[in-house]
Amino acid sequence: MSAEETLNKLAQEISTCTKCVLHETRKKSVPGDGPANAEILFIGEGPGFHENEQGHPFVGASGKFLDQLLAQAGVTRTEVFICNVVKCRPPGNRDPLPDEIKACDIHLEEQIEIINPSIIVTLGRISMNKFIPAAKITAVHGQMRKVDERFVIPMFHPAAALHQAALKPSILADFVRLPDQLNEARAALGKPLIVAKKKEEINQDKPKQLSLF
Ligand code: SF4
Repeated sequence: MSAEETLNKLAQEISTCTKCVLHETRKKSVPGDGPANAEILFIGEGPGFHENEQGHPFVGASGKFLDQLLAQAGVTRTEVFICNVVKCRPPGNRDPLPDEIKACDIHLEEQIEIINPSIIVTLGRISMNKFIPAAKITAVHGQMRKVDERFVIPMFHPAAALHQAALKPSILADFVRLPDQLNEARAALGKPLIVAKKKEEINQDKPKQLSLF
């Protein structure tokens, strides 16, 4: 079975998963989107209202903001895999509870194993704590570190930056550094470096309006 087929099979299993109470209130599970060979895996917290309706991650306002941030790094959604710590929506957009995170971790671990990314970017405190327990995101955001056999970069959650304007310059600066960090990670992992996109190519990928900045 190819990595893509294995990911699809996992998404099927997630759609019928009853390992935690979140299955009782979900409309659609949100396993994650992206290529099975993605170099960068983004992990958010949990699906929100729009994600629960559509079954895809980051499709609301924070998703639009994430697209703008990705454009700053010269990458598009089709090149990265995006998922969440829990695959079903916590009611009322509350934080996922520890037992829900624990129950869903088996799915996240399987995704990491299948995709085998060079870099994991955690979006927000909850996914950061899986890899860097007890760290303060304000102190470590944007800093890449080796965690077991891959690299992890904690970043602010786009929704937090949307609600707190003071965080926007920080999250933007963190995303701008991502291509260099990917090459740093690839070099350390013995993989060939990726040639940076030309400025014109990056500009073509950018959304027309960067009004959120
Ligand atoms: Fe299963 Fe995860 Fe959904 Fe809980 S959140 S029901 S563990 S897929």
